[in-house]
Amino acid sequence: MDEIDLPQLKFDNSYVRLPDNFYAKVEPDQPTNPGLIRINTKLAELLGLDLDWLNSDAGLAMLSGQKLPDGAEPIAMAYAGHQFGGWSPTLGDGRALLIGEIISQDGIRRDIQLKGSGQTPFSRQGDGKSALGPVMREYIVSEAMAALGVPTTRALAAVTTGDMVFRNGMEPGGILTRVAQSHVRIGTFQYFYAREDNGAVKTLADYVIKRHYPDANKSDNPYAKMLSLIVERQAKLIAKWMSLGFIHGVMNTDNMQIAGETIDYGPCAFMDVFHPETVFSSIDRNGRYSWANQSNIGKWNLLRLADTLLPIIDDDIERAKVIAEEGIGKFDNIFEKTISSLFNLKLGLLNANENQHDLIKMTFEMMTKNEVDFTLFFRHLTKVADGGSTEILCSLFNDPKDCEDWLVIWREYISKENTDPNERLKIMRANNPVLIPRNHRIAEAIKAGEGGDFEMFHKLVDAYKKPFDEQPEYTELEKAPTKDEIVHETFCGT
Ligand code: AMP
Ligand code: MG
Repeated sequence: MDEIDLPQLKFDNSYVRLPDNFYAKVEPDQPTNPGLIRINTKLAELLGLDLDWLNSDAGLAMLSGQKLPDGAEPIAMAYAGHQFGGWSPTLGDGRALLIGEIISQDGIRRDIQLKGSGQTPFSRQGDGKSALGPVMREYIVSEAMAALGVPTTRALAAVTTGDMVFRNGMEPGGILTRVAQSHVRIGTFQYFYAREDNGAVKTLADYVIKRHYPDANKSDNPYAKMLSLIVERQAKLIAKWMSLGFIHGVMNTDNMQIAGETIDYGPCAFMDVFHPETVFSSIDRNGRYSWANQSNIGKWNLLRLADTLLPIIDDDIERAKVIAEEGIGKFDNIFEKTISSLFNLKLGLLNANENQHDLIKMTFEMMTKNEVDFTLFFRHLTKVADGGSTEILCSLFNDPKDCEDWLVIWREYISKENTDPNERLKIMRANNPVLIPRNHRIAEAIKAGEGGDFEMFHKLVDAYKKPFDEQPEYTELEKAPTKDEIVHETFCGT
């Protein structure tokens, strides 16, 4: 391929300037026959990329790892992690390469990463590749999450490689271009902690403060402050997930990003029928990462982060523990407050008071008992608040009588408030999505995509751009799966 002319693509790399034990320099593999599936135009604009260039052969060459533009400095980042509670001192980017960083139009520095571009020194037994299915899944779900207002890594592009990978049999390979505020994880801190390298922990913490938490520098103890700011972002993030029925599925410490974005869309899913113990991951046998347990695990993960920071928080380890506990101690309060407030808004209660917690609890119990679809419940409750009939809402229940009884209580709560009904409706509409990426639809899109047909994939990506809007052309996508369509498990294997 000819030398590539690169208008407007300006890398400004910082992670590669850190000490060389933070990463390994690796070149991507050559794909056999790359093909473009989709480019995320809006995100490309945010990054200040030239769309014509990105859509050209040169753009595809970058997105497939075939030829990286000048200024790219591809590296695989080192990290460790607790996976399902088990400790691994060395994980690292085994099938991903950070090719560089770009200062976006909003002034935020963002990583550009190729996921599925070949082996690295961290690949262990893995092939370093991604199958097309998980690439499509991550594109669909991460972009839907962004549209739903959840902090998340983004998908800039999806391509096919023309190579086959071995997963559940031979499958077509793909590469996702992931964009993130950074790829530093709790596991990145753990990597150096495990090597008793407090100097590296400090270097990493200074990097994180500069990039993500500059306010921490105003504090007497910037590292303790950084911890408490990370705690705050994580607590809010997990509450937000739960308010949408989202189950991350693999909340290992290596999948918890320090900047507070959702990362690593492996076995994640939005639940259909509400049950607090719902899990999706095929390997989550004990419900460790169930919907309701996500806050507990989030806090546990943050404790693992705190472990790594103790030596740099204070020379006196006992004192450091007291200081760190103060930061971690905020988790429960922030989480509870955020999730109550989010569910109050979903229920149309705008003037929160403590009694409303009872209504939320009662609602969960009633939904569990009646096997109510989570998203449809709040969607149709919104319609009831708009003066619509209760028929569809109550048809979601095993026992419609339970629905009628619950509505009486709900109306009592509503009537105690002095809220303008239009204002209430506006809030409910903004908090209760019409569309979420349902697993059975994603499965359908993946199956077609594996056969070379990306129509369903594009349809889903387009539909989920406006998840809170009435879009008559996508009514079909609102529907819960039929018994035959239910997807019970999703797999980590990317
Ligand atoms: P995950 O479960 O997707 O968060 O990945 C956990 C670890 O396994 C990370 O270190 C990944 O880089 C690595 N990994 C996952 N899939 C592959 C693969 N196909 N080849 C090499 N490494 C992989
Ligand atoms: Mg991961």
